[in-house]
Amino acid sequence: MQQYDVLIIGGGPTGLSTGISVAKAGLNAVIVEEHPKIGHPLACGEGLSIDKMRTVENMPKYNSEETYDDFIINRKNYLIERILSTQRFFFGTSGVATSQLETVTINRPLFDHLMAKEAQKNGVDLSLQSRVNEVKRDGNSVIVKTTSQTYRANLVIGCDGPSAHSVKMIGLKGPSEYVQGVEFNIKGILTDALDFYFDFNRFPKMHYGWVFPKKSSTNIGIVVDPASNPNTILKKFMNLHFNDVKEEDIIQRIAGIIPASGPIPNLCTDNYMVAGDAAGLTNSIFYGGIAIGIHSGWLAAQTAIEACKSKNFSKKKLLEYEYKCRMMPYADPIIQKAHQILYSDFTANDLENFGSLIDGWDITRMNIWKKLLLSFKALSKPSMIKKFWNARIIAYGFSKSRDWGF
Ligand SMILES: Cc1cc2nc3c(=O)[nH]c(=O)nc-3n(C[C@H](O)[C@H](O)[C@H](O)COP(=O)(O)OP(=O)(O)OC[C@H]3O[C@@H](n4cnc5c(N)ncnc54)[C@H](O)[C@@H]3O)c2cc1C
Repeated sequence: MQQYDVLIIGGGPTGLSTGISVAKAGLNAVIVEEHPKIGHPLACGEGLSIDKMRTVENMPKYNSEETYDDFIINRKNYLIERILSTQRFFFGTSGVATSQLETVTINRPLFDHLMAKEAQKNGVDLSLQSRVNEVKRDGNSVIVKTTSQTYRANLVIGCDGPSAHSVKMIGLKGPSEYVQGVEFNIKGILTDALDFYFDFNRFPKMHYGWVFPKKSSTNIGIVVDPASNPNTILKKFMNLHFNDVKEEDIIQRIAGIIPASGPIPNLCTDNYMVAGDAAGLTNSIFYGGIAIGIHSGWLAAQTAIEACKSKNFSKKKLLEYEYKCRMMPYADPIIQKAHQILYSDFTANDLENFGSLIDGWDITRMNIWKKLLLSFKALSKPSMIKKFWNARIIAYGFSKSRDWGF
């Protein structure tokens, strides 16, 4: 049986970030990934904030061409596909909010690949095509059984994405609510900003639709309720906004589920922590999770390093990670509250009214004056009087999300 200080389940951005940090600290670590190739299959809109790309520890280097020349599989592939200075948020037909956050679209398979190279360069073992079937505490360590072998580790970090199997195997509660994301990658550039469409009138089951331009193609996707037919809605959404796109322009179709219920009740127990999607750590307004996953993986790694130094793997020790994580803006309960009001309580009319209130505003910057002005505007609109507090929560949720989550 192979023994490790730290065993990480899942080779997505969260697991890779965790692996890079623990390996840099000299810990003996392995990442166990069920798929044969890192970065595949792809399930991502590939939108990310430049600020997070620059400031979050363990992100693949912004200037990839210079730093990672050796690792670029194909010289035609670039880590950064397009730099964008504007996001637009369309609310039905009533208003368009904007934001001047700088964002990028990335080549996500290459992004994950570069992170895996960095983890391996620092000494992490990577076990591919190895699906974890069992996670069981045994004394002061954990036994992990995969399709190919059995491991013993002092600490296991669950980074196994939305399905969160390891969370349930260890006896914690996983995410309780999911949404579906589907996307077409289309030939050609169809916009010059990161565009988000909220439109409950025409698309009652759709939370929002996105249009993200890449280097020579565009990602058009939607997030919908789990009990709906995403393919039909995506086609309708695409035809409404880009009716000249033909079937043969679709390069690729991708799909996946995204946790939508916010951070799960417990992020750790004895000998075990959970991070990223598996911990419900996605932005439940925009449903992005790359930067959040990489950051929460890094946070979990910091506690893992301390735990290994002190040989204390108790829940009490690991709670240090949980406290730090819950202090982060991406775990703020206001985002979850805004998610619930926006996607469950708001009617199509409420959304139209909300759009008209914030038309032209930077929705990711709500200072005290903006909040007061929003209340004033809402109170002077008869149909919004009862909902003005909800409108404030949604606007605050957008603002708190800022660039964590797309
Ligand atoms: C359609 C769609 C579009 C999205 N667009 C964006 C976007 O534009 N921007 C953004 O920031 N986020 C986006 N996201 C969310 C983002 O992709 C995730 O938040 C991010 O990938 C989370 O990283 P992770 O490492 O936690 O999980 P994952 O990337 O899901 O990685 C988990 C890994 O664990 C492996 N695994 C699972 N179970 C096991 C097991 N039992 N044994 C071994 N390995 C296992 C999986 O194979 C996988 O490789 C999107 C998601 C979807 C579905």
